[in-house]
Amino acid sequence: MKFLKIAAKKKLLLLAMMAAVVTGALFTGSSSTEAKAKKVQYLGKYKLTAYCGCRKCSGGYGNKTATGRRAKQGRTIAVDKRKIKLGSKVKIKGKTYVAEDVGGGVKGKHIDVYFKSHKKVKQFGRKNNVKVYKIKK
Ligand SMILES: [Zn+2]
Repeated sequence: MKFLKIAAKKKLLLLAMMAAVVTGALFTGSSSTEAKAKKVQYLGKYKLTAYCGCRKCSGGYGNKTATGRRAKQGRTIAVDKRKIKLGSKVKIKGKTYVAEDVGGGVKGKHIDVYFKSHKKVKQFGRKNNVKVYKIKK
């Protein structure tokens, strides 16, 4: 009888451990869970590129954005307006940006991230399949 009790206890412990593993798996990795917790909307996986105010990146526009505001590194991103409305706050890799510019080459699931120098643009390069979230107001 004593032996049986111990066996039952061990079984319970094992079950508890398994439950912890299962719930742990549910809370990590799942984008929908993340979206709920932070009041953000998952927009999908985007292609990221970078641009600056130089002639090569922006032609004659310079640092002026589509909203009229001057572009700022760490805040400005260019988007396809049909995908993300201008003025939207967008979360990329834990950082919050503002969709305040557009670009002729920015179509669909593509975001152009603004940098203050062309050197930084080159360093950034191109990143594929980056999870993008819209912060709800
Ligand atoms: Zn440039």
